[in-house]
Amino acid sequence: NEQIVLAHRPEGIPQDDAFRYEQIDIQEPGQGELLLESVYISVDPYMRGRMYDVKSYTPPFQVDAPLEGHMVSKVVKSNVSDINEGDYVTGVLPWKKFNTVESQRVTVVPSREVPLYLYLSILGMPGMTAYQGLLQIGKPQSGETVVVSAASGAVGSVVGQIAKLKGARVVGIAGGSEKVNYITDTLEFDAAVDYKKDDFKDQLAHAVPDGVDVYFENVGGEISDEVFKHLNKFARIPVCGAISTYNDTKPDIGPRIQQTLIKNQALMQGFIVAQFEEDFKAASEQLSSWVQAGQIKAEVTIDEGFDQIPNAFRKLFTGDNFGKQVIKVASE
Ligand code: NDP
Repeated sequence: NEQIVLAHRPEGIPQDDAFRYEQIDIQEPGQGELLLESVYISVDPYMRGRMYDVKSYTPPFQVDAPLEGHMVSKVVKSNVSDINEGDYVTGVLPWKKFNTVESQRVTVVPSREVPLYLYLSILGMPGMTAYQGLLQIGKPQSGETVVVSAASGAVGSVVGQIAKLKGARVVGIAGGSEKVNYITDTLEFDAAVDYKKDDFKDQLAHAVPDGVDVYFENVGGEISDEVFKHLNKFARIPVCGAISTYNDTKPDIGPRIQQTLIKNQALMQGFIVAQFEEDFKAASEQLSSWVQAGQIKAEVTIDEGFDQIPNAFRKLFTGDNFGKQVIKVASE
């Protein structure tokens, strides 16, 4: 068996020396426990926050202890009656090739008719984040303009597609022509803007002639400063993430936005997906039915090999991932 521990608290984008691979034994499962083989491991931007020793909504990762995150695993041995060998489960588990856990820590995947890695993207935490943040805070109305940043990614791509289903005009912001073309051609957003281009500001102004009613914030920094200039009266801003600042070594200071919010009587609300747990069941059913009907598409980048996890994690911060980034570490 093998595990990945946090070797030290990194500065900037975590390099290989922040991750230490260790050989460990496989634990035999006791009563009420399962032995699981990790198959698909998810890397998510929030994990960077857990590498800092600060108070947050989840406790920090500990140095010399295994990192952990969402994964899909295969049941190798089961000592519980309702889960069988060969079943697939999801949960937040340590980055180990094999985990021995109490069965309550995982959930059996509801259906095998969709690819298993979708339980880490549209049918998992990122899809739920998009759904809840957009519909509970953004509340897009038909004909309104919705702007979303990191728009080709796991959360952003779903935000834009749900907003389209609700009848909004959707503008995505992303880096590079491949992502921008994907957003308009495949996801059918109304417009897409490349923030890496010199004329980003003009492109954005051109893309939102009627202003911005909902800005789904994923990135923070200069991109959101620019979007703020276009807010409409009663705009809503679900603040989901600020990935452009996660590796900062100095505090991020931007323009003051209080006056913008006052003038537009706008609502800006931070959230974490877990706060909407009461609605998860209904939302999951809705998301699955959209996926099965082909009304929402989900792009995924699958890297292969347990040794590729640190590199895949870094891709979230360089933009080298395309859609949801996962790592396949064993065959299904
Ligand atoms: P993505 O799949 O969107 O991958 C990250 C993307 O962020 C990259 O592909 C890149 O896209 C973009 N990015 C990275 N660095 C920068 C930068 N400096 N400036 C602008 N864009 C950048 O990730 P997720 O969909 O999983 O996460 C998106 C956001 O949602 C994150 O901020 C994350 O923290 C947040 N989140 C919040 C949750 C909550 O409960 N509040 C839950 C889940 C996610 P590009 O190439 O276009 O630059």
